[in-house]
Amino acid sequence: MSFDTRNWKPATTLVHAGALRSNFGEMSEAIHLTQGFVYDTAEQAEARFKGEEPGFIYSRYANPTNDIFEKRMCALEGAEEARATASGMAAVAAALLCSLKAGDHVVAARALFGSCRWIIETLMPRYGIESTLVDGRDLQAWEQTVRPNTKLFFLESPTNPTLEVVDIAAVARLANSIGARLVVDNVFATPLQQKPLELGAHVVVYSATKHIDGQGRCLGGVILSDKEWIEEKLQDYFRHTGPSLSPFNAWTLLKGLETLPLRVRQQTASAAKIADFLADHPKVSKVIYPGRKDHPQADIIARQMTGGSTLICFELKDKAAAFGVANALDIVLISNNLGDAKSLITHPATTTHKNLTPEARAEGGIREGTLRFSTGLEDTDDLIADFDQALSKI
Ligand SMILES: *Cc1c(COP(=O)(O)O)cnc(C)c1O
Repeated sequence: MSFDTRNWKPATTLVHAGALRSNFGEMSEAIHLTQGFVYDTAEQAEARFKGEEPGFIYSRYANPTNDIFEKRMCALEGAEEARATASGMAAVAAALLCSLKAGDHVVAARALFGSCRWIIETLMPRYGIESTLVDGRDLQAWEQTVRPNTKLFFLESPTNPTLEVVDIAAVARLANSIGARLVVDNVFATPLQQKPLELGAHVVVYSATKHIDGQGRCLGGVILSDKEWIEEKLQDYFRHTGPSLSPFNAWTLLKGLETLPLRVRQQTASAAKIADFLADHPKVSKVIYPGRKDHPQADIIARQMTGGSTLICFELKDKAAAFGVANALDIVLISNNLGDAKSLITHPATTTHKNLTPEARAEGGIREGTLRFSTGLEDTDDLIADFDQALSKI
């Protein structure tokens, strides 16, 4: 883009930022489905490899379609640089591992997406990286676990599936005070409803599989940070371990970004109404929704988020009731995905969080009767009617 895009509002950014048209002037972004690039001369190849001439070398390093996606995400997030990855987990693994070495220590909030928790708890120690899990809501716990070798903090907010929130600015201040970096997994908030970099975080990661694609088509991820960290810490790790996104999937995600604000706005408005309906229902014992005043951390939410959430966590009496409702729902589908156009229901204890010990699940507030609901794009009244009839059957 030849002019300043910084004043654009998100909806404009998500349609236009990072545009890189070929000489054919195509309307929709081109899919550069190529593994490599050719050079006019041997001198040009030499200059590209030396970094003296800009241009593409190999799609494991960079690709024009991925480049548009990365630039568009940077413009939305307010980040200097980004790298697109093949999945959300590729983004998390690269963002965490690229700068760490044996002997370093990591502190993470324990309410994490299952695979993220596995990296912290199981993988890192195998390579001599120490890690401690804390209750992310407890600022003193973060402070008390800091060691002289603590290099990195990691958290997710709101968390999966219980929608707890962590005070990102407070954890960022602690990280800065000891020279550590804070990596935030911002999937549940979406890039529209929370800006971790503005709150002081150093690195933001997304599973683009969720709201960014938002239509269940492909996996993807993205890592965003400042130019210095990307170039000095991430770049070599990224180039030589190859978590790169397919250009086809980058194109799919670009199409997703165009409609992201419309979808997230509608899904959040719908979720707020459904959360109220569930909270008033006699068979629902508890509703956790970041847009409701009765969320236990409503004050932090008001400070760091600009919207509620497209997700709702709620509790029924027991596993039989939870399974009963999931099975009786007609429009709402049973799936572990989230952020989709289709409304989805998940029973975390037996699926996404089944690998945790019962104690770890209890610590995280995941009970046998807990259900996670991801609001889709169906008509809100139809969704409420679906819950109404399903709840009447248990
Ligand atoms: C889905 C998810 C991931 C992993 O993303 P994939 O694209 O499935 O690899 C990581 N963190 C959170 C919070 C997620 O919801």
